[in-house]
Amino acid sequence: MTFLITAGPTREPIDPVRYISNRSSGKMGYAIAEAALDVGHEVILISGPVNLTPPRKAKFISIFSSDEMFDAVHQHADSSDICVLCAAVADYKAARVSPVKIKKRADEFLLELIPTGDILQSLGRQRARKFLLVGFAAETDHLEANATKKLREKNCDIIVANDARVAMETDENELLILFRDGESKKISRAPKKILARELVKIFSISQQKSLTKKM
Ligand code: C5P
Repeated sequence: MTFLITAGPTREPIDPVRYISNRSSGKMGYAIAEAALDVGHEVILISGPVNLTPPRKAKFISIFSSDEMFDAVHQHADSSDICVLCAAVADYKAARVSPVKIKKRADEFLLELIPTGDILQSLGRQRARKFLLVGFAAETDHLEANATKKLREKNCDIIVANDARVAMETDENELLILFRDGESKKISRAPKKILARELVKIFSISQQKSLTKKM
């Protein structure tokens, strides 16, 4: 099967030297990519800027902004069997990007932000999609309620929820996996590399099941 995986943060430019971003390390997405390759799947890894070496056998696409990630995902989603959107895409970008460095001033400076395109939601809205759609939810509060809302609103098959305070920039994580049919599964704290192997198994089984149903 072919896995499309997004990973890492995005960078939303403000001017030629400044940007808005977040603390995502990309470790979870890269671990899923490695785990999928290890069991013989093909991987397209679409990644924001991180300090990790992409797996040698993956088709690697490097992007910076959410707009670039949006385009790259849409270019490759239809030729994939499982899309795992693990990236911490910025929710907002600058309404206008200055072509020159913005000068420091003595008074207050207000930056106007507009929402970025939601990549996961845009794939969820595709009518006849053939790929399994997996989203992630990093929350600091009401984990299950927020993740359930995301599963519905973004029309995914699976949402993998984690506590942002546990997951960000670390090598370990604990997961709550919610399925479209209302089922759920908890995986207790473990290294991201171990969790990734478990996730690849779960995603592959779900994709097989959904194919059988469609036949
Ligand atoms: O709404 P929230 O950002 O918490 O949703 C998280 C999920 O949505 C993740 O799977 C993330 O990769 C995806 N997402 C996206 N495009 C955005 C924002 C989030 O694909 N602009």
